[in-house]
Amino acid sequence: MSIFLIPVLSSYSTSLNLLFFYMTWSTLVLSHSRLRVEMFGTITVRLIFYALPSIVFFLFDILTPSAAVLIKAHGATGLPGGRRRRKIHMKELKIAGWGLFNLFLGIAVQGVLEMVLVRTLGKRSALKVSLKLPTPFEICKDLSMAMLGRELLSYFLHRYALHSTLSPVLSRWHQTWYHSLSAPFPLTAHFDHPIPYLVTKFIPTYAPAIIFRFHMLTYILYLLFVSVEETFAYSGYNVMPTTLFLGGMARRTDMHLLMGGSGNYGPWGVLDWILGTTVGEPLSDDETSDEADEREVRRAYEVAKRKAVGSGKTKRR
Ligand SMILES: [Zn+2]
Repeated sequence: MSIFLIPVLSSYSTSLNLLFFYMTWSTLVLSHSRLRVEMFGTITVRLIFYALPSIVFFLFDILTPSAAVLIKAHGATGLPGGRRRRKIHMKELKIAGWGLFNLFLGIAVQGVLEMVLVRTLGKRSALKVSLKLPTPFEICKDLSMAMLGRELLSYFLHRYALHSTLSPVLSRWHQTWYHSLSAPFPLTAHFDHPIPYLVTKFIPTYAPAIIFRFHMLTYILYLLFVSVEETFAYSGYNVMPTTLFLGGMARRTDMHLLMGGSGNYGPWGVLDWILGTTVGEPLSDDETSDEADEREVRRAYEVAKRKAVGSGKTKRR
């Protein structure tokens, strides 16, 4: 905790700050096993920057739907359950539960991998937990490489492993789990069948970090960015800390679901734009294509609405 708080709370000069930071970090590394530092660091970041805010948003949606609907980009369709009602249904709780289960499944896989590498095979750990701090240049370089790697892996795995005839089993699981939702709502960033989840969420996030063998502190920073991004991109809200960046990502995530997975496979949308799989966004200033796009979005939205109401009906029967 003090690793996060020292730079924020203290009013000392930068060099003193760094000294305190280094002392805290070295105490942590020297007094605990490296695996424990890695696991607790990962869990802390995921809890503070993803799980807690997502749970708060989820409860806000469930307990005050009339207030939440005002900041939902797709109105009541964006609420858990797809309708304005103040009642928690088993289905939404199950989705939230699976989302959190998957999050910790990923962390457990990370822990087992480190244990096998270090204790069983006697190799060096996948992430670097060392006393030496990374330089700002190393941090920037690693972060940009990882973000690029994550975008590439997410895009190709999502498109060719989860939405393709090449892997019918994975595609079916992804369709019947994640694509059963009518629109994303808080906590759905990690909701999917556990296997497709590991393939398109855990691997793209974790693989770049071990390929470039991140310093643990760089990994914490990277995971912090990813967690904040996931919290907002899957919230369904149109009020965001940054409209252009997180807002754009959130609308692309919505559209992936509303358009039945016909595009928007990558988190940042860069590869979708390059490879022409962007859906639900005006492609040019040409008025006719704008109108066609709008019609398409409206149709997708109506389908999602029917899906939400339909699932409510079958539940009641
Ligand atoms: Zn999908």
